[in-house]
Amino acid sequence: MRHPVVMGNWKLNGSKEMVSGLIKGLDAALNGVEGVDVAIAPPVMYLDLAEQLLSKANSKIILGSQNVDLHNNGAFTGDISPAMLKEFGASHIIIGHSERREYHNESDEFVAKKFAFLKENGLTPVLCIGESEAQNEAGETVAVCARQIDAVINTQGVEALNGAIIAYEPIWAIGTGKAATADDAQRIHAAIRAHIAEKSEEVAKNVVIQYGGSVKPENAAAYFAQPDIDGALVGGAALDAESFAAIAKAA
Ligand code: 13P
Repeated sequence: MRHPVVMGNWKLNGSKEMVSGLIKGLDAALNGVEGVDVAIAPPVMYLDLAEQLLSKANSKIILGSQNVDLHNNGAFTGDISPAMLKEFGASHIIIGHSERREYHNESDEFVAKKFAFLKENGLTPVLCIGESEAQNEAGETVAVCARQIDAVINTQGVEALNGAIIAYEPIWAIGTGKAATADDAQRIHAAIRAHIAEKSEEVAKNVVIQYGGSVKPENAAAYFAQPDIDGALVGGAALDAESFAAIAKAA
């Protein structure tokens, strides 16, 4: 049985004060919520603070991060390693977000290398995939998603997806308020799962596929009612404790 995972991607937002307030608010709002894994990915700068707050509160919230680089140490100015993320208690690491693909020119192959390096270091990749508006209009959605996943499957084998999370985030739905309908998202999730099933039905059955893109308390339940949508990767609404908790409770 797949277990839903609701993750908050805080992107480039936060301050010490905001991180403290949000984590305290979230932990209180999530008290007693069962049946869903809840994770947050604050900016890496605040992992230390976040870890301290979560452990002090004995919180079940999983700590994550938004990116990783390809080495564990050495002359790589500005990079952050899996070992460092691990030391600060981050386990679920977002890779391949469309903002990194776009603003940092990250290719499918580069993202696939990050995927492998996270697995090698015992961390959980949250692999973001998704099409642009133009690709959507050209009917290329499934082909784009398949290509992004195949960069992992073709280099590491389909079993590499075991224990990993895939986040389907149509780029046109991110931060726009123009969320995919639950039916459309379900159709794409089913196609992604079917693509993986061509290599392994077992892996396809078990892999968590989140939806992301303008998920809000008002639309979350409709996504989670779909058979192939296993949680959400949430941006804007994850910055408000009540909203994010309401989304998690809907899962
Ligand atoms: P929004 O929820 O703000 O649309 O962002 C989604 C996202 O990019 C999460 O990674």
